[in-house]
Amino acid sequence: MLTLERVVKHYRSASEEIRALAGVSLSVAPGEMLALQGPSGSGKTTLLLLAACALRADEGTVSYGGRDLARLNEREAAQYRLGEVGLIAQNPHLMARVSAVENASTKLLLGGVALQQARAQALAWLERVGMAGQANRTPEELSGGERQRVAIARALAGEPRLILADEPTANLDSHRSREIVTLLAGLAREQSAAVLLVTHDAEAAAAADRVLELRDGQIESETAAQPS
Ligand code: ADP
Ligand code: MG
Repeated sequence: MLTLERVVKHYRSASEEIRALAGVSLSVAPGEMLALQGPSGSGKTTLLLLAACALRADEGTVSYGGRDLARLNEREAAQYRLGEVGLIAQNPHLMARVSAVENASTKLLLGGVALQQARAQALAWLERVGMAGQANRTPEELSGGERQRVAIARALAGEPRLILADEPTANLDSHRSREIVTLLAGLAREQSAAVLLVTHDAEAAAAADRVLELRDGQIESETAAQPS
């Protein structure tokens, strides 16, 4: 279970201080998909990065499985990111001139999975995102949407318990978007993953169990999605 309690996050530069999150509390349980909506600049990506332990909160607590992420040392934080979290970043970076299957294997290899096994698992995930046919292509030979799907396979390989997806369908056509959202919802339901999905897409949000609307770093509303 991921829990945020009264989380505040500022970004500071020499000239100004931006309050990206102004006291956000929420939780996402295993088996649940929570959609996060809100205008650009409302703090969605910041919230995801805090949950991924890629940023630290200024105030409040972010905890996962009862553990306060602020108390993790660097090694524990790295282990958490690698072992528990599947982060699909808003602008995911793939390794240049390296095939899709090798890109999709990277987290598995870092986690100590043997090469052949990592390749096989990565291929299976590429297949699930409709990319098996392009497994040997490099990012340079893929479209933006295809690169996005490789990044999704990379994030999901290894079956993370916590899936943090930052507008994962932004570059995809409606057919592919539906496929990815169905995949994420399925991981929540069938594998008891906790899924936090940032999306602008009303259809994607409707697939979630709950929808939170963020505005100016605060939760403006919470609704249970309509049963479909
Ligand atoms: P969203 O994902 O909803 O568009 P963000 O979390 O990216 O929102 O940003 C929230 C606010 O924090 C915005 O005002 C944004 O400009 C600011 N911000 C985000 N990242 C940084 C950063 N690294 N440095 C300074 N300001 C940032
Ligand atoms: Mg964002």
